[in-house]
Amino acid sequence: MSIWLRNLPSVHVLLEHEEVRKLIELQGRDRVKEAIQDIMSTMRQNHENYTFSNSQNVLDYIICQLKEQATLTHVTELKRVINATGTVLHTNLGRSPVAKLVMDKVAQIAQGYCNLEYDLNQGKRGYRDRPVEALLMQLTGCESALVVNNNASAVFLCLQALAKDQEVIVSRGEQVEIGGSFRVPDIIHASGCKMIEVGTTNKTYVEDYEKAISEETAMLLKIHQSNYRIKGFTHETSREDLIKLAENRQLIAIEDLGSGTFVDWRKYGLPYEPTVQEVLNKGMDIVTISGDKLLGGPQAGIIMGKKEYLDKIKRHPLMRMLRVDKTTLMALQEVLRLYVKGEHIEELPSLGMMSQSYVHLKKRGGELGLALSEKVNHLAVDLVDIEDQPGGGSLPDTWLKGVALSIALEMDSVDQVQAQLRRLHMPIICRVKDNKLLFSIRTIEVELEDVFLNELADVLKEVS
Ligand SMILES: *Cc1c(COP(=O)(O)O)cnc(C)c1O
Repeated sequence: MSIWLRNLPSVHVLLEHEEVRKLIELQGRDRVKEAIQDIMSTMRQNHENYTFSNSQNVLDYIICQLKEQATLTHVTELKRVINATGTVLHTNLGRSPVAKLVMDKVAQIAQGYCNLEYDLNQGKRGYRDRPVEALLMQLTGCESALVVNNNASAVFLCLQALAKDQEVIVSRGEQVEIGGSFRVPDIIHASGCKMIEVGTTNKTYVEDYEKAISEETAMLLKIHQSNYRIKGFTHETSREDLIKLAENRQLIAIEDLGSGTFVDWRKYGLPYEPTVQEVLNKGMDIVTISGDKLLGGPQAGIIMGKKEYLDKIKRHPLMRMLRVDKTTLMALQEVLRLYVKGEHIEELPSLGMMSQSYVHLKKRGGELGLALSEKVNHLAVDLVDIEDQPGGGSLPDTWLKGVALSIALEMDSVDQVQAQLRRLHMPIICRVKDNKLLFSIRTIEVELEDVFLNELADVLKEVS
């Protein structure tokens, strides 16, 4: 029997310890008490593995274990992080941030009652998508619109409601996978439709679609290639040809536009992408997009198009399962209002970040680098050029000219420092290249710059 076991403090005494009381405030007394009991029971069981010279050591050890466990819990909680990766729509980091002026409205609505399904004109039951639908009609000229959980469910719902047990024709050049769980063939099969693939990976002609049409065909589906591009010897059937064919054969033409946009990005120095209104104007029956990609809104799937089809979708039982809550609808309403007014669009964080100029980034980076080297002595910090990315499957093949703080570290400390950055109160997520930590300026939110500097300096002081 180890002698130090006699010095094991009582649970009661530990619970009164100053450090432990801090943990209780965060996690609750029961949880902390349980953790203490677990630690002490492990110590008793394996007592021969420990040596402590006095009772203070025993106490310190237990507190240290408790804090370590608390850090692990703290790391798994959902919380705000600083994105220094340079990928604007980082799916793992929650895609698009939503503008503060939008979220202030959301906070108000979430805290009380609202007219979610109550028609204030008539004093009777209303339809929850109505306000957002009205804005979408105004913005895009669509006849009707509705909102679901995300774009994957939007596509699924359209297929199931309009083409179940029938054939859907898709080009082999558009069989995309978007991050694991969204694969076009899987979605089509799961929705109960039969997928008919046409063309080849690099070339699909309108004749290929035409030849594949049968008695069983319900739909021609076009999908944004999102995260890749086929280059070289290629042919993509034009939207116009596809729409004309669908019209002639009385089929539904539907396009999954992926990120989707209401504004011409060329105004912001970004590459051309067809807008939703352009595609609908050409005669596409239905268009689906995500809410949290370049739109800069909350996670949502938006379906826009012809009333006859949308009415059918609205009556489908899946609608009830895929509908969104009042906070999502409020956020979407406020974001769409910004687009309708045409003001403050640059205030939408994703668009703002995407369109930041190199010169501006260089200026911000220079200031941050200077401030950091003033906080940490002998720090090897450089300002380097870097390629940022839109991300989220938007604008494939587009690289944004960016700037990063580059911090050189000892070879074996890079992983450790990165892990430390992930455990911070507000974790910092960055890139690593050749034993250098790279902090891309573009995606670091301006209002978090001070937190970023202070936290990073604290970690770097420890290692340098
Ligand atoms: C991103 C994307 C999706 C999936 O959208 P979610 O909103 O994440 O469900 C579907 N299709 C395309 C073309 C996309 O780019």
